[in-house]
Amino acid sequence: MSDQHYSFFGAVEKSFDKAAKYTKWDTGILGQIRECNAVYQIRFPLKRDDGSIEVIEAYRVQHSHHKTPCKGGIRFAAEVNQDEVMALAALMTYKCAIVNVPFGGGKGGIKINPKKYSAWELEKITRRYTAELIKKNFIGPGTDVPAPDYGTGEREMAWILDTYSAMHPGEIDAAGCVTGKPVTQGGVRGRREATGLGVFFGLREVCNMEDVMKRLGMTVGVEGKRVVVQGLGNVGYHSAKFFQDAGAKVVGLAEYEGAIWSNDGLDIDAVFNHRKATGSILNFPGANNFEKNGDALEMECDILIPAALENVIDGDNAPRVKAKMIGEAANGPLTPEADEIFAKKGILVVPDMYLNAGGVTVSYFEWLKNLSHVRYGRLEKRFTENLNAHILGQIEELSGKKVADDEREFIMHGPDEVDLVYSGLEETMITATHEIMNAWKANPEIPDMRTAAYVVAINKVGTSYAELGIFP
Ligand code: NAD
Repeated sequence: MSDQHYSFFGAVEKSFDKAAKYTKWDTGILGQIRECNAVYQIRFPLKRDDGSIEVIEAYRVQHSHHKTPCKGGIRFAAEVNQDEVMALAALMTYKCAIVNVPFGGGKGGIKINPKKYSAWELEKITRRYTAELIKKNFIGPGTDVPAPDYGTGEREMAWILDTYSAMHPGEIDAAGCVTGKPVTQGGVRGRREATGLGVFFGLREVCNMEDVMKRLGMTVGVEGKRVVVQGLGNVGYHSAKFFQDAGAKVVGLAEYEGAIWSNDGLDIDAVFNHRKATGSILNFPGANNFEKNGDALEMECDILIPAALENVIDGDNAPRVKAKMIGEAANGPLTPEADEIFAKKGILVVPDMYLNAGGVTVSYFEWLKNLSHVRYGRLEKRFTENLNAHILGQIEELSGKKVADDEREFIMHGPDEVDLVYSGLEETMITATHEIMNAWKANPEIPDMRTAAYVVAINKVGTSYAELGIFP
């Protein structure tokens, strides 16, 4: 990075201020929207497997209480710091507002490289962190609901739930204290791939906009698009997979240890399995290695999807990026300097705070499932199938013709949980894409899509505060 002391929260504030001038809110309200409402710093000891003691540094930030509970993932990474967690919490507030998820923004972080700890040590850290959150009322189905983020997944969420439930005996809604849980522990089907699927739905919608594609010099639609993805974790893997399934060509993939490319396209699952078997993405049969993993970001392509960590494209490498469109699957992958460069070059940046909202959207569905204590589709699936069978029977009888078997299966099918979750996510991402694009079109002075997204978010949070009567 060009700047060692780069502030991620500062970058979020900068983007916020850039957008605030296109809204009608006075500085007091804007200040209240912008600030972090509560920052909890935690230190606790860990007894390591070798008997030594280590002090663990952790955070939970609640950026906004304009709606409760607060919502946001927990990150395990060596680089975690207060500034980063504050920035990520703020992004959650704006993200939830844009996709109409009724939560305030929150985020958690533990400063550890999870690869350097055993499963038992990670379990102890996660459970102790949860206990610390409970002590200060920083977790609960109605107060603050964590989820997975970089370095965490279903396993950690199950530990959090178990710790919370053990300390809240008889709390009937306890399962709603955390989302991203395994399905057997109250998770919802479709959560695992939700962020990547949301990235795909959002970018597909932009690719279907004729005027935008014309401006960028691309054809309409996803099919045939050349895509590069950085990060083959939860978000990157699923984003790449959904693009591949829709007929796009994933020509470049970057991981921590290196990056590869192939003009013929890379098979995502094959690369994933190769990495699992060899411990590295490099030397994938039929593909070429890049010299450095960062080189993949500068590859000739239509859509670049950074899906690893923040600040990977800055003022230094942005001028060398050749993509026509950048989909921010990670949180904060571009610095404000990179933003300015892309705006000048006419490269469209589809911003993180709405594009990666699939995770929180489906987390919302999971939370609703937990509070209603019933699986989606359980009540209507059979009824819908019976009704559809009856309608089909009537059509066949009246027309004297038979419907083809594959069509019959499609028409008869009553919704499973995953169908409803995907459909709710698709609707959410399409609506949000149009809302942001319309805000942008409504004011030609708004310089880019990120600023338009902030304008939408600020207006919604501002209205919410105003309607709460906090600012009479
Ligand atoms: P993950 O831990 O599952 O995967 C991240 C991957 O990035 C890992 O495989 C890691 O090795 C790789 N990586 C790290 N540094 C890299 C580098 N320099 N070059 C290439 N690859 C690198 O994490 P995730 O959950 O997929 O999160 C990725 C990003 O998406 C984060 O910014 C996170 O905040 C954001 N996000 C995640 C979710 C979610 O639901 N998990 C939701 C919204 C946003």
